[in-house]
Amino acid sequence: MKQIIVQKFGGTSVADTDKIKRVADAVIREKKLGNDVVVVVSAMGHTTDYLIKMAKDISPNPSAREMDMLLSTGEGVSIALLTMAIHAKDYDAVSLNAMQVGIMTESVHQKARIIDIKTERLRKNLKQGKIIVVAGFQGTTECGEITTLGRGGSDTSAVALAAALKASRCDIYTDVEGVYTTDPRVVPNATRLDKISYEEMLELARVGANVLHPRSVETAKQFNVPLRVRSTFNLDNLGTLIIGAKDMEIYQPVTGVAADLSQIRVVFCDVPDVPGNAARLFGALSDENISVDMIIQSYARKTTNTNDIAFTIHKDDYAKAKSIFEKIKNDLNARAVHIDEDIAKISIVGAGMVDRPGIAATMFETLAKLNINIKMISTSEIIISCLVEKEDAQKSVKALHKIFELESNEIADVKGDLPDLE
Ligand code: ASP
Ligand code: MG
Repeated sequence: MKQIIVQKFGGTSVADTDKIKRVADAVIREKKLGNDVVVVVSAMGHTTDYLIKMAKDISPNPSAREMDMLLSTGEGVSIALLTMAIHAKDYDAVSLNAMQVGIMTESVHQKARIIDIKTERLRKNLKQGKIIVVAGFQGTTECGEITTLGRGGSDTSAVALAAALKASRCDIYTDVEGVYTTDPRVVPNATRLDKISYEEMLELARVGANVLHPRSVETAKQFNVPLRVRSTFNLDNLGTLIIGAKDMEIYQPVTGVAADLSQIRVVFCDVPDVPGNAARLFGALSDENISVDMIIQSYARKTTNTNDIAFTIHKDDYAKAKSIFEKIKNDLNARAVHIDEDIAKISIVGAGMVDRPGIAATMFETLAKLNINIKMISTSEIIISCLVEKEDAQKSVKALHKIFELESNEIADVKGDLPDLE
């Protein structure tokens, strides 16, 4: 039987018509190897950002349903253009949107999860020898509504398609050569990893290594889909392979360092120390579908019998969250709510830190030497994160990358704008 390969091309890979023609070459190259090829594409370049900007110019809080109607158009453009480019090179191809494929999601707008993918039409088209070009990032509900999967969601579309079709591999083509020990635009001598485990990649993706959408890695891990991150512009470089930790030897305690600038810290001050208050607070946020990341509850002060509850949320949820803070504050009988927007979450990740003491201490000492104040700390088995002032983000990443010996002798060849690190 033929192998099925899923290829995914991000926004930078299809940013203009010349690039789309190059993507067509990469697709045809895979097809010529004798494989069945399903391609997933994102919207061209900064299209999604531009669409969001237009919506925000019209309304500060646009309806989530209409946002999905709007944003899903971006991918609609790129699938049609890429299919035309493949036709122009005399290969048979067909574009399909999520509704035509049957990428079924839950009925949540803007961050829907995929629950099922119908494969009949895909299999039929593959059997006819066609290359299939599928719109990433979008889905549809039982009732025929259009949904989107959250920013960067095309990666997840690709991996979910690979899982549904039992593909041999899912190749995520992007503008970098693979997964690095940290963002090479911040640290030019970052090292490209040949392999990384799903577990480590998941943590890195969650804390702001912008290579892959976290849910795509989760899905790959769950269905054991071998994932490759590789460059659209250097097809001979195989990039980074992402596989199960059990298939790897782990030598170093830390694999990567990342800065997440997308969070906002919220503190409810002087919350009465009674049972049920934390449940009330986080229940109210979850009712609005707002995810919470770091959570710290302070030791209860004897004098007032209150404590502070601090947590972080994504800045995209801020407007929605803010509208219910006053009500939550009153329900909890808390004294005040503090918001801190200028923060960065700096994380070190490594499967090798399990059972190796001293890694956290080294991280804190490194930040202390730079006189960087830590506002919150969280840890789990293979990750340690510290919240710092946003202006300290770049310094922190550089110092941690160095202390954990992640530098390479080469300067990475990376294009693209520096992320918003001050
Ligand atoms: N176009 C969407 C975005 O910019 C989805 C994606 O690129 O993966 O977030
Ligand atoms: Mg993307």
